Amino acid sequence: MADLSQDLGDKHNASPLYRLRHSLAHVMAQAVLDLRPGSTRGFGPPTDTGFFYDFVLSEPITEDDFREIERRMKRILKQRQPFEYEELALPDALARLEEMGEPYKAEYARELAEKHGLETLSFYTNGPFVDMCEGPHVKHTGEIPAGCFRLRSVAGAYWRGDERNSMMTRIAAWAYESKEDLEAAVRRYQEGLKRDHKRLGAQLDLYTIDPVVGKGLPLWLPKGTVLRDELEKLAREEEFKAGYERIATPHITRDELYHLSGHLPYYAEDMYPPMVLEETEADEDGASRAVKETYYLRPMNCPHHHRVFAARKRSYRELPLRLAEYGQVYRFEDHGALSGLLRVRGLCMNDAHIYCTPDQIESEFVAVMEMHERYFELFGIEDFYMRLSLWDPDDPKGREKYVNDPEAWAATEDRVRQAMRTSGLPFEEVRGEAAFYGPKIDVQLRTVTGREETFATNQLDFAQPRADHLNLQYTGPDGELHHPYVIHRAPLGTHERFVAYLIEHFGGAFPTWLAPVQVRLLPISEKFFDYADGVESQLRQRFVRAEVDRSAEKVGKKIRNALTQKIPIVLVVGENEVEAESVTVRRYGEDEQSTLPVAQFLDEVAREVADRTLRRRPGLD
Ligand SMILES: [Zn+2]
Ligand SMILES: [Zn+2]
Repeated sequence: MADLSQDLGDKHNASPLYRLRHSLAHVMAQAVLDLRPGSTRGFGPPTDTGFFYDFVLSEPITEDDFREIERRMKRILKQRQPFEYEELALPDALARLEEMGEPYKAEYARELAEKHGLETLSFYTNGPFVDMCEGPHVKHTGEIPAGCFRLRSVAGAYWRGDERNSMMTRIAAWAYESKEDLEAAVRRYQEGLKRDHKRLGAQLDLYTIDPVVGKGLPLWLPKGTVLRDELEKLAREEEFKAGYERIATPHITRDELYHLSGHLPYYAEDMYPPMVLEETEADEDGASRAVKETYYLRPMNCPHHHRVFAARKRSYRELPLRLAEYGQVYRFEDHGALSGLLRVRGLCMNDAHIYCTPDQIESEFVAVMEMHERYFELFGIEDFYMRLSLWDPDDPKGREKYVNDPEAWAATEDRVRQAMRTSGLPFEEVRGEAAFYGPKIDVQLRTVTGREETFATNQLDFAQPRADHLNLQYTGPDGELHHPYVIHRAPLGTHERFVAYLIEHFGGAFPTWLAPVQVRLLPISEKFFDYADGVESQLRQRFVRAEVDRSAEKVGKKIRNALTQKIPIVLVVGENEVEAESVTVRRYGEDEQSTLPVAQFLDEVAREVADRTLRRRPGLD
């Protein structure tokens, strides 16, 4: 019933762009009725990118008719038709709709009147066109710039979105305040389509989602697995340098762990249903007894990591203890929300938990922020900001939503705020968005197509280690037991979402260090296969992912194939190269090519990979 509330909301949203889009919907309907007399109408609301109108057409319309409809619309704009408002008593309004031959509008009018007890209904007239409508509109059609809209699509749509109802034809259009805005938006949209991670994921052979395996459970193909291995390697190296230790823990656990951590029952609906195991165990005197245990697939890694902390007695001398794992988790996302790699049910987190004393919170948090910065620089991510999410003591539901300990909140919030100031990264504060166990920093990214996403979250947790939860302890310098603080952090976020982001960010043209195939050799004829094989082998000895195109295609076609796969470096080899023991290097997205001795090329590419060089600045192209 989205249309209904949308229509009622009209009056309250009167931005100039909204008026323009809404008015254009009327103009288009007028043009369509002119072209297809005898058609009837459904709804015609503005949208975030323009507007649409639904029709039951007397004769079909296809994209071939778009030019004619646009021509007629422009004529209506030239006529400067004024929009005139009028209010009719309900019986008169219904009579008018009958007379107009608009059964769908009449049905809706009766329903509106009944539901809201309306005694009158409003109409807008421009030129020969009348619509039951609450407005608002522009003063006259001449206010609308002729170049600010473009018809976009024609498709089937059920009346009121209900498949039991009649099928209508929806004609949708883009509309913006100016021709420039329109063109920029259409370009962004087309660029977004080209960069769509689902489309590129298939084209570049990165992953597949197989219904036989299950919804939302991506299978990483060999090329996609390279991305995963490289990103994990990056995390492993950065974390090693920053003093982390790695652990490996199982994907399932007994329910006991989640009762302790407090995730059950609150988190249960986001988890796969439990597995109940029944087995027979022998006790000490040889008698057998039935044991029944409940297991869950883990939706997060934290409780497992906390058990690693609790595996033995800890001293303050071991802190900060930084435990890292590229940890697989499973979440039972609603199937309607699943989408490519952006929303999945099986995902991997670049996870780590830092156990520390109160005095170490700030410097540990700053170090995490520095790791973020390093990653931003490495991937050329520039459009980001941080959001410091605080608890809301005035929230009436606060006691259920947050651990009720004002003093601990004040102290931890202050430390995180101080850490953010020290890091110098841009951040804003939001009340009421904290985790239940402490304040957090959300890393917000804007994608190349303009979508804003929470990319990673860093949380400071004072509650879970406490006695009423997991009761984590260390011996302090005073010889007493204390609860540590925990920082939950995952600067690369979840692997699946990050790969989706990177595919769109780079438009599939990954930097050399990350590219599934880094170098492809293109021998110009069979005669040069051996030479190409030799260079390939030398590259592989240096851990460069190289391959030879042994197809019978002409070299021009081989180059085009490599371009489609967005391979960063192709080496063309023929007579000259063999004689000079050289290779001719062409890079993706660069015009000039160069010929280098093989040894020099080997050194250059090995260095580029080792340094994880970002040669091209990503952006819209
Ligand atoms: Zn309207
Ligand atoms: Zn955690």
